[in-house]
Amino acid sequence: MQYDHILIRYGEMALKGKNIKKFIIKLQENIQQKLKEFPAAKVKRTQGRMFVLLNGHEPDPIIEKCKNIFGIQSLSLAVKVENEVEHIKEAALFALKNAENASTFKVSSRRINKNFPLRSQEMNQVLGGHLLSHTEGILVDVHNPDIEIKVETRLEATYITSSVVSGLGGLPVGTSGKSLLLLSGGIDSPVAGYLAMKRGVQIEAIHFHSPPFTSERAKDKVLDLAKQLTKYGTSVKVHIVPFTKLQQEIFREMPDGYAMTIMRRMMMRISQLVCDKESILSMTTGENLGQVASQTMESMNTINEVTNYPVIRPLVTMDKTEIIAISKKIGTYETSILPYEDCCTIFVPKSPKTKPRRDKANQFETKTDFTQLIEEAVSGIEVMKVTDKKDIESKFEDLL
Ligand code: ATP
Ligand code: MG
Repeated sequence: MQYDHILIRYGEMALKGKNIKKFIIKLQENIQQKLKEFPAAKVKRTQGRMFVLLNGHEPDPIIEKCKNIFGIQSLSLAVKVENEVEHIKEAALFALKNAENASTFKVSSRRINKNFPLRSQEMNQVLGGHLLSHTEGILVDVHNPDIEIKVETRLEATYITSSVVSGLGGLPVGTSGKSLLLLSGGIDSPVAGYLAMKRGVQIEAIHFHSPPFTSERAKDKVLDLAKQLTKYGTSVKVHIVPFTKLQQEIFREMPDGYAMTIMRRMMMRISQLVCDKESILSMTTGENLGQVASQTMESMNTINEVTNYPVIRPLVTMDKTEIIAISKKIGTYETSILPYEDCCTIFVPKSPKTKPRRDKANQFETKTDFTQLIEEAVSGIEVMKVTDKKDIESKFEDLL
């Protein structure tokens, strides 16, 4: 006997009423997609649960993959047996003997198949008795057992599991539409992308790049961050915008105090054009309410004026320490703190306004016609598809 299945629980989705089917099918697709390097592994659905059939693959690497898939609440190794008491007894004993350092246990049975002759309580007793008489020095503890052996009797079979591994929760990526993530090389925006993905959002990314003031390495850093995000979802299309000319013009023509605000407004305008082209319905940023110039309420208000698209700001109320903790957990922190400059660190006004106003920004913007430069930036966009493939060579697939 061996663990030949992984049982997948997807708590929150049970609440989704008639959309449930869509969510479940998406989750199944996402899991199957993430397991493509394990060709024999198959993902199957049954009422309220999902299973990965290992078909000979080692379970641990598959569990590791599943731990990064949004929509999974928890997972357990499982043995599948026929709905026969003798088989179930044998499997429960296998699970107990496989548990490390367990000196107490509890059996928790669920009878989903109401035609099965033993009720849950009877099953607990039968299995408990069997386990006690086939082991030595192991006791029952119903309140605080070292191991809980779970037995689910379903229509098609009975599944026996023991330890439970936590998943990420959230919703399957792709069930909440797409958002365009404004991805800088900093700590915040990758975390914002991750949190949007957690709610089922599929992301594309846009990055404003100002060569030669910002280097190729700075661009690669952003692509690396996008790649790290693919671990939690699908491949990510990255739109790289040549921003140098527009940025130079802004810093030459606009009053020093407003240059940063107007630069951000241009980012929003260009992002919205990309959204229109790609049929994306929202943007996501790493903005946060802090006290630096670009992060005040006034600043957010003035920047936001140029778009009526929803702007998702998952970090808006978080403390920096919380954001850093997430970025470490998801594996983007080490890349984010690499020193390569980005376009916002190169063009820094001497005294940016911390309380910019909409009317002032509009007034300054009328003094220069940016239309041509915006068009040029948009038509110069380079699109890359960042995949989760392991080999570095095929990491960035140029779409143009
Ligand atoms: P981050 O850590 O994400 O860089 P930040 O704390 O540096 O954020 P800002 O520089 O004010 O904050 O940027 C706010 C948000 O604007 C970023 O989180 C990101 O979403 C977006 N942004 C800034 N610079 C760029 C860029 N060069 N390309 C794309 N988006 C950008
Ligand atoms: Mg930044």
